[in-house]
Amino acid sequence: MMEHPLSQFNYCPKCGSDNFHIHNEKSRKCADCHFVYYFNASAATVALILNEKRELLVCRRAKDPAKGTLDLPGGFVDMYETAEEGVRREVKEETGLEIEKSTYLFSLPNLYVYSGFQVHTLDLFFLCQVKDCSHLKAMDDVTDSFFIPLQEITIEAFGLGSIRKGLFRFLKEL
Ligand SMILES: [Zn+2]
Repeated sequence: MMEHPLSQFNYCPKCGSDNFHIHNEKSRKCADCHFVYYFNASAATVALILNEKRELLVCRRAKDPAKGTLDLPGGFVDMYETAEEGVRREVKEETGLEIEKSTYLFSLPNLYVYSGFQVHTLDLFFLCQVKDCSHLKAMDDVTDSFFIPLQEITIEAFGLGSIRKGLFRFLKEL
């Protein structure tokens, strides 16, 4: 049985009442002020970047969840931002690379624990072309970023479930 996404939200965020009850599988409603709060997955992006030798860009996670495991560049989409703008911004922040073109491939739902809270995301996978792979740096949320030949990729080295699933699908369809 899945935990209700708002199981830890015991008080109405509007009036502070504890008469804040589960309304349906993704919302709570306040019996005092009638405020209804819906929980939805947050949009996130994942970048698949190949260099001219057909090697894939991977990063090593600097932070939990799954600290120290391999990952692909990407992150949450900000409010008022398109997914294409989000993936471009995250790749720039994490690797220093400039995305020239991004093509949407597919999406996968993901669930992980952050700060003791179950975070639901919808990960949007993009095949990205970069201008110049030579300016690669590891910054922001990653300790390392490097290119790896496709045949040397081990899915188990990646810590997040949706990344493992997405990589499997990408390599199969390639
Ligand atoms: Zn209320």
